[in-house]
Amino acid sequence: MLENVVQLKCCVKHDPWGKKGKDSLAGHLWAQTPGSTGIVDSETYSEMWMGTYPSVPARLLSTGETLENYLKRKPELVGGSIKERFRTSLPFLPKILSFDKALPLQIHPDKRLAEQLNLTHPDQFADPNHKPEIAVALSNFELFAGFKPLTDIEWLMQIKPLDQFVPAHATFDDELLRKICKILLQLPPETVAETITQLLTLPEAHFGKQRYIPGLLDRLRKQYSESDNGTLVAVLLMNYITLGPGEAVCVPTDSIHAYLRGDILECMARSDNILATGFCPRPTRNNVEIFARALSFKPHNPEEAILGRKKTDKGELGRTDEYAPPFSEFNVLATILGAGEEEKHRPIEGPSIVVVTKGNGEMAVAGKKKFDLHEGAVFYVGGNVPVEFSTQRGMAVYRPYAE
Ligand SMILES: [Zn+2]
Repeated sequence: MLENVVQLKCCVKHDPWGKKGKDSLAGHLWAQTPGSTGIVDSETYSEMWMGTYPSVPARLLSTGETLENYLKRKPELVGGSIKERFRTSLPFLPKILSFDKALPLQIHPDKRLAEQLNLTHPDQFADPNHKPEIAVALSNFELFAGFKPLTDIEWLMQIKPLDQFVPAHATFDDELLRKICKILLQLPPETVAETITQLLTLPEAHFGKQRYIPGLLDRLRKQYSESDNGTLVAVLLMNYITLGPGEAVCVPTDSIHAYLRGDILECMARSDNILATGFCPRPTRNNVEIFARALSFKPHNPEEAILGRKKTDKGELGRTDEYAPPFSEFNVLATILGAGEEEKHRPIEGPSIVVVTKGNGEMAVAGKKKFDLHEGAVFYVGGNVPVEFSTQRGMAVYRPYAE
């Protein structure tokens, strides 16, 4: 057995906002693993996790051993200075998500707050790490990310009945925005419902360039009842963004976001810490005070949320793009091949995960051993291994890595 390239068997989650049955890409990819139990039409398939996080661990297909344990036994397969720098073999956690309903309105706390929460509430915050993340669209992708520009929010909040939620005689700056966000999150259910109903009586034109507002309010109240505070925060204060396949967003630590519809590849620092205050049952919501205090104001317009991709010399034949967010835990390579095309990846110093999201082909390792690739095939590839991809009919391969 080649030790530095191993095929993985991943787990899938069934959150209620996941797409159902065969409509879910996460479910479809998960179900292609040899030995999988297959898709049930009535079941939701929300997330397939491809990392070493203990609650949803990936395992070696051949033996069932967790990847975490395997890399602990064979630290030489990780490569680079990863272990010293991140105190873990795989510093990132890749996932495939499929959803047609809003995910919880959330932020991921920074390291300082995560350490505190992990210490005081280890049951809810299972690790002391931060969780900056990126999301690459695999289909059309709708989301809320970051706050709108202050001028847009200020203009909107003058409209009745919203004006009552703006503290009087204050300068309209980020600190005021923090207060407004907190006020909206703390409104009693009846007030939320009343406000949404009143806004829906206004004509679209009343909202100026934000005329999408009534449509989104109506959509979200149907998903999460009329009294979910998340609806007001997302639609009134946050950037509503639509992306096509291949486009991506970057969500730094403490940045507010709520994904709305799509199939995405998500990659994040190895953490599962989340503070959620909307689009989830009231009893499970986190403390609004802590949430509001932690909020950052980046991004502060839709353009700032976008993560660009660029060609990288990691792909020797020029068919590889790279998403490089401004954090050190990972970058993501995307190799999208047409029929009959191939690509060679230069050796990467650290660990990586290879996942095929579309099509099929082959992966040759170090010019020798060949692996069949098909939709849903997931591999761990260790440090310093050159790999080559080839396909007869076309194939999309994503490869998050650290080095
Ligand atoms: Zn998130």
